Order: sequence, then structure tokens, then C-alpha cells
Amino acid sequence: MHQNVNSDKQTTKTAIPQKFVYFFAAGESEGNAGMKNILGGKGANLAEMTSLGIPVPPGFTISTEICAHFYEAGGKLPDWVRPAVQESMNKVESKIGKKFGDVNNPLLVSVRSGARASMPGMMDTILNLGLNDQTVEGLAKSSNNPRFAWDSYRRFIQMYSDVVMGMNSSLLEVTLEDLKEEKHYKLDTEMTVEDLKLLVKKFKDLVHQMTGQSFPADPWEQLWGAISAVFHSWNTPRAITYRELHSIPAAWGTAVNVQSMVFGNMGDDSATGVAFTRNPSTGEKAFYGEFLINAQGEDVVAGIRTPQPITKVAAAAAGVMSLEEALPQAYAQLVEIYKKLESHYRDMQDIEFTIERGVLWMLQTRNGKRTAAAALKIACDMIDEKLITQDEAILRLDPAALDQLLHPTLDPKAAKTTLAKGLPASPGGVNGQIVFTSEEAVEWKEQGKKVILVRIETSPEDIAGMVAAQGIFTTRGGMTSHAAVVARGMGKCCVAGCGDIEVDYRNETMKVKGYVLKKGDVITLDGSTGEVYLGEVKTIEPKLDGSFERIMKIADGIRKLKVRTNADTPKDAQTARNFGAEGIGLCRTEHMFFGADRIDAVREMIIADNKMDREKALAKLLPMQREDFYQLFKIMDGLPVTIRLLDPPLHEFVPHTDEETKELAKRLNTDYERLRSKVKSLHEFNPMLGHRGCRLAITYPEIYQMQVRAIAEAAAQLMAEGKTLSPEIMIPLVATDKELDTLRAQSIAEVNKVQSEKNVKFEYTVGTMIELPRAAITADAIAEHADFFSFGTNDLTQTTLGLSRDDSGRFLGTYVSHGILPKDPFMSIDQVGVGSLVKMGVDLGRRTKPDLKVGVCGEHGGDPESIEFFHKVGLDYVSCSPFRVPIARLAAARAALIGKKIH
Ligand code: PEP
Ligand code: MG
Repeated sequence: MHQNVNSDKQTTKTAIPQKFVYFFAAGESEGNAGMKNILGGKGANLAEMTSLGIPVPPGFTISTEICAHFYEAGGKLPDWVRPAVQESMNKVESKIGKKFGDVNNPLLVSVRSGARASMPGMMDTILNLGLNDQTVEGLAKSSNNPRFAWDSYRRFIQMYSDVVMGMNSSLLEVTLEDLKEEKHYKLDTEMTVEDLKLLVKKFKDLVHQMTGQSFPADPWEQLWGAISAVFHSWNTPRAITYRELHSIPAAWGTAVNVQSMVFGNMGDDSATGVAFTRNPSTGEKAFYGEFLINAQGEDVVAGIRTPQPITKVAAAAAGVMSLEEALPQAYAQLVEIYKKLESHYRDMQDIEFTIERGVLWMLQTRNGKRTAAAALKIACDMIDEKLITQDEAILRLDPAALDQLLHPTLDPKAAKTTLAKGLPASPGGVNGQIVFTSEEAVEWKEQGKKVILVRIETSPEDIAGMVAAQGIFTTRGGMTSHAAVVARGMGKCCVAGCGDIEVDYRNETMKVKGYVLKKGDVITLDGSTGEVYLGEVKTIEPKLDGSFERIMKIADGIRKLKVRTNADTPKDAQTARNFGAEGIGLCRTEHMFFGADRIDAVREMIIADNKMDREKALAKLLPMQREDFYQLFKIMDGLPVTIRLLDPPLHEFVPHTDEETKELAKRLNTDYERLRSKVKSLHEFNPMLGHRGCRLAITYPEIYQMQVRAIAEAAAQLMAEGKTLSPEIMIPLVATDKELDTLRAQSIAEVNKVQSEKNVKFEYTVGTMIELPRAAITADAIAEHADFFSFGTNDLTQTTLGLSRDDSGRFLGTYVSHGILPKDPFMSIDQVGVGSLVKMGVDLGRRTKPDLKVGVCGEHGGDPESIEFFHKVGLDYVSCSPFRVPIARLAAARAALIGKKIH
């Protein structure tokens, strides 16, 4: 069950507002654009347009507050709402000089939804309301066009029976098609008045037959039904889904707009259309839109007839007639109005209009939706046009939308068959043949094939396969699972935790919704939505232009937070620098351990029985690690590079099957049984709470000693080459100050040793991750031994909520859809819980050391909403995967501006 607005009938009694119906007409509107919360976007803008002297058909808006009362009354319109509606209807009648329900000259109205945030096409609309067997004759007479009147009537019955009476609309559609076939008509417009009269009768009979109710003849009954239906449509499954997707609270409710009808279908001097004041896909400054002569709004949207371009230039390209040519006067007026609207709202507008017998009427204006590329171009152009300031431009941009610019996306026009939906773990649109093992991903890639790596979950052993694959798909694991984190780091598309798909490794199949896909079959992933599609869906390559760079520069001038990157390879480090990263905030050294040339040395180190053997194995790793760090320092060229010493539990590095263990025993020239029992002894029931992080170094100090030596030797080498660098040694998973005290002393001793051996001095710092609640709570004591803190909010979320970051994907979705958690806490920081610990850690740490440098390197460092929070609690930097660096730069600038505004 989904939440209703104020569904708790017993306890919630919302106060009745004093005023809840707002009239609008030329020069006498009761609302304005600032009243979106109660009038909804559409109602507020209709009122605003009338105040601007723009022609809008008179009408009124029933406020969003009544939506709550509607649900409180059990899904019924309370009686006390009616008199105010009737009163406003009287005003509309006197404005128009027609009467609602009048048999000679009837007033017809449209009834439309309109929420605070635009929800295009999500809720219901009814047109031509007020028609019945008598008023239709009046309309025929007053319009002098019986065909138009009867056509409007049959459309009204179709819409009303569908939206208000819940009838399957295809039944009436079939009746209409049957009639056309019988008469050998191709177009609706060929139907005669007699045909339409017959159709209306048939429609009404069918409605009665199917619903058991007569079609309401009383216009007022029609109106109450339509208003109720609009309120109802706030809670249809598709509206709820849309709200969840866009974080629109259920409590907002929708307003209802009742407006006198104007008709675009009164002949060849009438038309209807939609337009954007600038091109919504490219941002180009050109009026852009479509229209249909002799049609009603629904025809443009329904796609039965192909709409024509509005401007002469665009229509010429398509070889059709433009509005500019067909109705030049109305067009000229439309141009004047769109310019007025754009400069009034100081943003690109999406407008709807109708021309009735040559007279132009505006039906809607709102800020137009646009692609990320268009958003950047429009922002830059509007700054140049002095329409908006740089700050305003930054505040209008959605950082998350930049993803669209950095990765290929799925062609929105392509046909798609959805298989399932998982977590949108790493953005981009990709297609390829499915394989179930990393080895095969690598082999197939070498044969020139595009593959999608399908795994129940990934482990560090899958790295090579992940590199080879176009995209990664897992059925288990959340937003900070291995697959998600690593894919994001690589800038590779990933859909994770898709529990609806059953993967069978043995038979190499994946099953969903009756489909059984085999190895080699093609699927498409949308890592921005989590959707998985059957077969190949076309993709569009990303494009970056000057607007992107310009906006990034503006953002850099505003933001207070520094932006670093999480990178472990020279390639990722370089990508991140190109995207503007100001250092490395997290280098996970374990990722360096999995290279084919070094994994066996790592394993030797792990299975060593004594310190000497362990040191022997570590000595093999030292030169490799030194080279890794050398490269990273070099690329970062003096910028800070935070290197985290080994973190994961050791069992992650050892073989998991008997087969692999046997092979390893052979390679290492050791006894199989001994190796097997060693591997077994590493097993832990809760490895994430086990022997990992700094605990490894408390028991085996030589591991960190080797890593610190590698860092120091790399630093010494660069110093000798005359380069600058700024290394930061970071100790993970610290719970007590004693741990850090011990390991810091050991690290410093090792660096000192290298410095005297090599006879060089370089600056460096030693700090810690704060990723356990105890560390945050005792941050003042921990700060005694730390030069910096970096919040590991992945583990901090896991340990604060007691939620496994690798398994909770399976049920977190339900938590979010039931509103128990507002968002996946591994995606966007749980500000109240985990966030409080972050704040406490910052405050306590700085109590000990006022200048303590503090950052975050969990996945939240790339999430715009979390970044706003990190700015607020006073962090110095955020660190995120390379492809999120631009997003973080923009989000940090917005956070600074929002912070300034609040102050
Ligand atoms: C964290 O826990 O937030 C973190 C950055 O470390 P990892 O994800 O490697 O555990
Ligand atoms: Mg961690």
C-alpha cells in the first residue's frame, strides 16, 4: 500500500483554509507566480500571465490544500468546497458572457491537475466539460458549426468515461474505428454530423453497459466528478512512481484548474500547439515548437496527426507549412508573448497555446525541461544576455544531470523492452553480449566483442573482467558494493543489486519475466536509471563544449570545498585531473594488489607462517608499490595524494575453490593441505567487522611498514628528480586513539629511516579515516595523533545503521518505497544519523586541533545532496570517483551559494 495524503483519518484533521478557490482573468487575478505551493505550478503561472496582460481564458484554481481534505474525507470532495467553486464559476460566466449548462450558449470548461512541481503527463485532464444532449445543440448553434459541436461531445464522453468513470477507453476507440471502417473513412475528419451523433449514442450505451451507470448529463455533476478524478489522480501508481523518482512529497497534493474552453478545432483559422522559448535539446536561442491546424491539444500529444514546426525556417526544412505562414497575425502575437514570458520569468519557458478563430490564447507556461547540454548553454547565454547572474546560473543547474554529458546515454527515441530494474550504480548507457565470468569477459573482448559482465556479485578478482566489459550487472549488492564502487571509479556503467533476475552460473543463463537469456545474448544497461533492457538499445555519445568549461570555472570561483578524487591507477588519476580534481583523497592500495604479476606475492605474504617469510614476500611487493606511488605522485604534481594503507580482510586475496588452491600450491611450491588449512583459517563470519583495516597492522606491523617504505622511497625518488609532492599516509578503520598512536609512530619511524638512508627530507602527514562510530565519538582523542581526518562514510553508514553495504540492496528499496528511509543511505548521506556523527567528529577533532584538515572519501563525496551537507558541517574537501569530479565541483558551488543565502 502506498501512502495517501493524510491517510491517518482518525488523528489528522487538517484545518479548513479561509480561501481555497482563486479566480483568474485579465486584470483581476487572485493569485501570482509566487503562490506555487497552494496553486500548483500551472495555476500560479496562469494567474501570473493574466497579470502580465497576456490573454488567458478565465478560470479558477482549487488549491492544493483541498487535496488533503479530499483524502481525509475518504476520497470524496467535501460539501463545503462547492459554494466557493460555484461562486467562481459565476464570475467566469460573467467574464465570458456564457452560462455553464446553458442550452443556447453554453460555457464549456477544462479541468486539469497542477502540482507544485511539474509532473508532465502524470495526472489527468478533462476537456469540453459541460456538454450534454441539450448543450451540444446550443454549441452547434452558437459556433455555427454542428460538426465541431458533436465532435467535441464525443471526445468529451471518451475522456470523461475513461478518466472519471474508470472505463477502458479502448472500447470506445474500437467503436469509432469500426464506424470509420464501415464507412470507408481514413480520417476522423471525414465523419459527418450524423456519424458523430450515432457515435455519441453508441458511446453512452456502452458506458452504461460497462459501468452500470448512465453518463452524467448534469454539467455540475460532471464537474464534481472531474474535480474528484483529478484529486484521485494524485495517487495513481504512475504518479506515485514519478514522485518517488523525483523526491516529490506525497503531502504536497495537486491543485485543480478549471478554465473556460477555447477551441483550436473550430476550422482552418484555429490551431493548437506547444513551444519552447529556446531549443530544449541543444539550448540554441531559437523559438522552437509544433502546432496543428484545426485540432485540440490532445491531438498534438496523441501523435495521431504529425504536428508541424511553428517557425518558417524549421518548417521549410521539413517541407511543410509553418504557423508563421498559416496564421501570421497570431504568430506575431505569440512571438511577442514568448519573449515577454522569457524575460519575465528569466528562464526558458515551455508554453501551450490555442488559436480560436484567429484569436490567440495562452493555456500554460512553465520553466521548460531541458537536456544537460541545453541547460549549460542556456545558462551561459542568459549570463551574457544579462538576464541572470552567474550565481543564479549555478543555482539553476542540476549537478547530477552532468552525468549525461560525461557518459554515453541511451537514445530516448529508441524502442525498448524492459527486463528488470536494479540500482543505478554507475551511469551511462551500454549494450553488449552477456558473459558470466571475468575470464570470458577478457577473452571475448580480445576477440573484438562487446560484453556485459553479469555476476551475482563481484569481488576484487573480477577487476580484469570489469575492465574488459562495457558494463557490469549484478543481482546482489548495494550502492557501495564492490561492483558499484569499482565501476564508478572506472567511469563504467553498472547496474547493481537487481534481485528480480536469477543468474545461474552452472547453466550460464539469466532468467527474468519468462525470458531465459544465454551467454552471448545481448542486453542493454542504463546505469543512470538502473534499467535493464532486452537486446541492443542505441546509445548516444557524450559531447562537451565551451559552456561546460565555462560553468565549471564559474563554480570553482564560488565553491569553498576542495574536490579531490578517489583513484588507484595512473589512468584514473589522469582522468580525474582532466576533470579538475585537486588531489587524490583516497588511493585504495588493495586494488594494486590484484595485478596478475603481484597477486601471488600477496598470497605468499598472507600464508606466511612467520615474520621472516612474510617479510620475504613483502620485499617482492615493495618495488611494485613504490612504482605505483611514484606514478600517482608524478601525475598529481604537488597536489595532495592520500594513500590509504591496506584495508580489506586478507581472505579476499586467497583462492576460493579447491581447484585454484591446488594450482596456487603448485606455483608457490608448497603443500596443498597446508595451504588449504591456512586459507580455511582465514575464514570469518563477519569479515567486514573482522581482521581488517588497521587491525591487520596491529598484528602484522610489517605490512604497513612495507607500504610506508614504498611511499617514502617513491617520494625520495621524486625529490631527487626535483619534483614537488604532498603525500598523506592514511590509516583505515581506526576505532581507538591507541591504534592510531601506535601505527602513526611506526609510520613516522619508517619514513625517518628512509629519509636518512636516502638523505632527503620531504613534507608528509599521517592521518586517519573516521569510519566507525567510536572513532567519531572519540575524535578529540584521535585527533591528538592525526594530521587529518577523512570520513569513510561507506563504512560509517554500514556500522551506524548496522546495514551490510554488500547485502542490504535486497531490501533497502522497500525501505525507500515505504518511506521508512527517505533515500538509500549508501547513496545520499543519512544526515540525521550518520551525518550527526560526521559533524560530531569534525567538531571534536577541531576542538583538539583547530586547523585539522577534514575531508570525506566515502561514495557520498560525489553525491550533490551530501556535498551540501558536508559544506555545512565545515569539511575542507570531498573526494569522489573521477567522473563525478565535475558534479562535485558544481554541487560544492551550489552548496556555498545556498549557505550564503541562508545566512
Ligand atoms: C569508506 O568506508 O567510506 C571508504 C571510503 O572505504 P572503503 O569504501 O574502501 O571501505
Ligand atoms: Mg572503509
